[in-house]
Amino acid sequence: MLTKKIQEFLSKDQFETPFLVVDLDIVAKNYQKLVDQLPGVDVFYAVKANPAIPVLELLRDFDSNFDTASIQEIELCLKLGVSPECLSFGHTVKKERDILRAFNLGVKTFAFDSLPELEKIARAAPSTNVFCRFLTPNDGADWPLTDKFGCSPDIAADLLCQAVGLGLNPLGVSFHIGSQQKKPSNWSIALEKARRIFDVTSERGVNLSFLNLGGGFPSQYRVPSCNIEQHTEEIKKGMKKLFDDKVIRAVIEPGRFIVGDAGIIQSEVVLVSQKKYSDHKRWVYLDIGKFGGLPEVLNEAIQYEIKTPYDNEKVGPVVIAGPTCDEVDILYDHSGYQLPLKLSIGDKIEILSAGAYSASYSSVGFNGFPPLKEYYI
Ligand SMILES: *Cc1c(COP(=O)(O)O)cnc(C)c1O
Repeated sequence: MLTKKIQEFLSKDQFETPFLVVDLDIVAKNYQKLVDQLPGVDVFYAVKANPAIPVLELLRDFDSNFDTASIQEIELCLKLGVSPECLSFGHTVKKERDILRAFNLGVKTFAFDSLPELEKIARAAPSTNVFCRFLTPNDGADWPLTDKFGCSPDIAADLLCQAVGLGLNPLGVSFHIGSQQKKPSNWSIALEKARRIFDVTSERGVNLSFLNLGGGFPSQYRVPSCNIEQHTEEIKKGMKKLFDDKVIRAVIEPGRFIVGDAGIIQSEVVLVSQKKYSDHKRWVYLDIGKFGGLPEVLNEAIQYEIKTPYDNEKVGPVVIAGPTCDEVDILYDHSGYQLPLKLSIGDKIEILSAGAYSASYSSVGFNGFPPLKEYYI
């Protein structure tokens, strides 16, 4: 979102491109919006979406909890004064020594999706809380997380029951319907599966009380997605239908929705060229690409809206490419991007809704290009 604050920042023209600038007011607004729409549901911000200190501090001051995936993310949160009680180690694939480190730092809630991982937790973090991630459909998501994490619901129920024998406290379940999810109906499919796991374990004397709905709440990119209300309404409907008779702690782990549209990347056009007399498609080379902080353009999955200084003028088809010498560093070739014919070398362009999954993904210096600069205002 090109907010007034960001426009003023850009108008000073003080920093060389490329850089990310994030309006923290929008981060606060997005957080508040989710909390307002899902009363009684606790937020665990998915740190990986944007781990910048100003973002974490702001959410800490809103009393957010944090979903972390590594010892480094845990230490970062603790350093900022977040209580270990407010952290979950949500990755289902961890080194045993990292589980032990987290345990020694006071973290008491761990995710798993397999027996060997559960056994690691039992050894390294005895008597702690565990929740099991199960598989659920991710179709409709622009950035799916389908197969890598989670187990089938029947395995999840068995493992949660086994956790007791291992001296752990089986809290409940988690799932993720896929990032940038455009199909809110996926919530009810996942909630049905969750309820079934609650019922199966309860028949075996294990009463679950924790329901982690994960992330998936969308940002707005080139093709407008459904709005956040469509998601939260679907969640409320599903919860009412399936969990009204249970006393549970429900949590969400939003990442993209909180930070995505709060930031923009400014970039500079390095070259506009034509490769064949027979082809009028221009190649536009930017000073940012896949390695500089836009990995989500992989397979053209996330399609950012691009603003130029000539947005009302005549456009033509383009291939948009990054600055490195790597052939894979092409942003968009097949998605029908068109940019103004006037666009030329040295022009500044803005890549909108780039606050999530950008800066922290930029390489440390592939081809000599430094990591993406970040400003939080
Ligand atoms: C990445 C991730 C999230 C955040 O997902 P968004 O789609 O960005 O909201 C939440 N939970 C887990 C376990 C994740 O890995």
